Amino acid sequence: MLESDFASERRAMVAGQLRDRGIDDERVLAAMGRVPREAFLDEGDRPRAYEDAPIAIGFGQTMSQPFMVALIAQAADVRPGRKILDVGTGSGYAAAVLADLGAEVHSIERIPELAERATDRLGAAGYAGVRVHVGDGSLGVPEAAPFDAITVAAAAPRLPLTLYEQLVLGGRLVVPIGRRHTQRLEIAIRSPEGPAVLHSVPCRFVPLVGERGYRRSGRR
Ligand code: SAH
Repeated sequence: MLESDFASERRAMVAGQLRDRGIDDERVLAAMGRVPREAFLDEGDRPRAYEDAPIAIGFGQTMSQPFMVALIAQAADVRPGRKILDVGTGSGYAAAVLADLGAEVHSIERIPELAERATDRLGAAGYAGVRVHVGDGSLGVPEAAPFDAITVAAAAPRLPLTLYEQLVLGGRLVVPIGRRHTQRLEIAIRSPEGPAVLHSVPCRFVPLVGERGYRRSGRR
């Protein structure tokens, strides 16, 4: 496919999958209209880059559906200069969208091969400033905390308090919570009285595997 074909598919995605479905933060719509989603996929998968679906990226993982990436970015209230932790780097695409919004982005991935590939692709796409860490993101990145927002692209069994505690006051944790196959996207705002939780839409993400997530084989 030609660059221009990707650009027109990207415009159609922003209009049909995002704006028409209620994403109304113009900065998020603009960032989604700029970041080349195809650049975070293997060559053979690129023609599918703008499909309205998650896309397999190997190791049993997926690049999230464009709508979910936009919804999470909107919910996290990302602004230039804010420090964001993106848990579950995967392809690197969501980290690129957060970086495009002007944030200082830390991203953490447990599978080293995915982290390495994402680092290369972020650099090639012009987002070399994203700092990709390898490790258990359910524990956050304490050495870089506190964060203005933490976004999690994998489902947790319950609100991950370790992540919540790495937020500034007023900071937002955006995370899918629920069972393995059905969850709701929740937004927890750090406040002196404890987490103020807003529920958002039903969703389905791959599991957060780790100390504060699901055990690899468990059914919590
Ligand atoms: N934001 C990604 C979505 C990747 S899917 C994208 O745009 O492509 C979720 C990712 O979370 C997977 O790559 C998975 O390996 C990773 N993951 C799951 N549990 C994790 C954990 N505890 N720490 C870090 N990464 C984790």
